[in-house]
Amino acid sequence: MQVFKFGGASVRDAVGVKNVAAILKNHAQNHASQSIFVVISAMGKTTNGLETVVDAYFKQETAAAYAALHAVRTQHEAIAVELFGTPEHPIFDALNDIFVEIEWILEEEDPSETYDYLYDQIVSIGEFLSTRIVAAYLNELGIATTWLDARDVIRTDNTYRDGRIDWAETEARMQRVCPPLLAKGLVLTQGFVGGTSENFTTTLGREGSDYTAAIAAYCLNAESMTVWKDVPGILSADPRLFSDVTKIDNLSYREAIEMTYYGAQVIHPKTIKPLQNKNIPMYVQSFLQPSEQGTVIGVATLNETYPPMIVVKQNQVLLHISTRDFSFVVEEHLADIFALLAKHRLSANMMQNTAISFSVCLNNTKDRLDALLADLQKTYSIRQDMELNLVTIRHYNDTALVLVKTGKIVLLEERLADTVQIIVKNELA
Ligand code: ASP
Ligand code: MG
Repeated sequence: MQVFKFGGASVRDAVGVKNVAAILKNHAQNHASQSIFVVISAMGKTTNGLETVVDAYFKQETAAAYAALHAVRTQHEAIAVELFGTPEHPIFDALNDIFVEIEWILEEEDPSETYDYLYDQIVSIGEFLSTRIVAAYLNELGIATTWLDARDVIRTDNTYRDGRIDWAETEARMQRVCPPLLAKGLVLTQGFVGGTSENFTTTLGREGSDYTAAIAAYCLNAESMTVWKDVPGILSADPRLFSDVTKIDNLSYREAIEMTYYGAQVIHPKTIKPLQNKNIPMYVQSFLQPSEQGTVIGVATLNETYPPMIVVKQNQVLLHISTRDFSFVVEEHLADIFALLAKHRLSANMMQNTAISFSVCLNNTKDRLDALLADLQKTYSIRQDMELNLVTIRHYNDTALVLVKTGKIVLLEERLADTVQIIVKNELA
C-alpha cells in the first residue's frame, strides 16, 4: 500500500478538490492492486483563519471570534455548493455538526481551559471539514472511500499543540483498523490531528500533516509515501528568493534531515525519521503536473552528489552577549546562557564567541525573545542586530557564495566541509 498526502494548497477550492479526485481516480484505474491511505490538510489558509478564532475568543472578543468562524463556514459551504450542487446533500449537515461543536465552546463566555487545549479543539476542525468534503466528493464520483477519524488511530500524549506520538498504541491501532478498510477502497483521514487516551483532540504542530502521513506509512509498512505539492519537487533554493533553481531528483534521508534542520520548508522536520527507520521512500510531486517525475527521498546512492542547495531562515536576530566586568566568556557563562535559551524555547541557529562576548543567532519569536532578553540583562550587556537572514548553503561553491552575498552585508560567516552559514543584512538602498 501507499500513503498519499495532499496539503492545503491542493484543496484550496472546488477546482483543487476535483484535481485531487482526478489524481486518485487515475491511480485507482492504473494501479488497481495498490491500496492507498490518503492524508489531507485543511483547505487553503483555513488553519490561519481558525487561529484567529482562538485568539479572539481567548481575548474575550466574542463578536470577532464568531465573525472569523463564520468566514470559515462560508468558505467551506461555498466549496461544497460548487461540488455537490444541491443544499439537500448530507454533507451540509456533516459540516454543520462540526461548526456547532465550536459554537458551543464559544458560548462559554470566559475560557476556563488553557490556550493550547482550546487551540487544538478549535483549529483541528479545519482538517475535519476538508476531509468530510473530499471523502463525500470521492464517494459521489464512485471512488469508494472510508472517512477515518485520525483521533481513533493517532494516539498522542496531552501536550496540546505539539502532541507526542504514542508509537506502540498508534501502530497497534493502525494495524487493527486500517487493513480491513483498505481492502474496500481508499481510506482518507486528517493530517495534523491526534487524540489523547481521554479522547481529547491534539494537534502535531503547524504543517504537521506531512508528519501524519509519515506516521501512517511507518505503522502500515507502506511501500512509499507521496507528498503532492504545488512545486515540481524539492528545489535547490526557494524560487521566490532566487532565479535559476534546479529540481533535485534524488535526495538521501540524511540530506533531507539536514535541509529541514536549516529551515527548508518543503517538508515538516519530523517527517523523515519514521520513513528512514523503515527505509520507506518519500516522493515529492506536483499535483499540477501529476505525471512529471518529482524528487525521491531515500537511502543514499553510492555517488551521492548535489548542486549547491540554499536554505534561508528569515527574521533572525543576532545577539551579542558580553560580560559586564570584562571577565572571559567561559564554560559557566555559556552553560548559563544555554540554560536560558532552553528555558525560553529558543534554539541557537548559529553562534561564535570572542574573549568577552558570545554571539548567537535566533529566530525572532517576539514573546520568547523579550523574555530571554529580560533574563539575560540581569547579568550581561546585550547588543542586537535585527532583521537578518541566516543563509545556509549545503555543497557550496564560489558561484553560490557570490550569489547569496550580492547586495548584502555579511555579519557572520562559518564554513565547514560541506556547509556554509552566513548571516546577512540587506545593504541600505
Ligand atoms: N493545516 C495545518 C497547518 O496549516 C497542518 C498542515 O497543513 O500540514 O499548519
Ligand atoms: Mg499546509
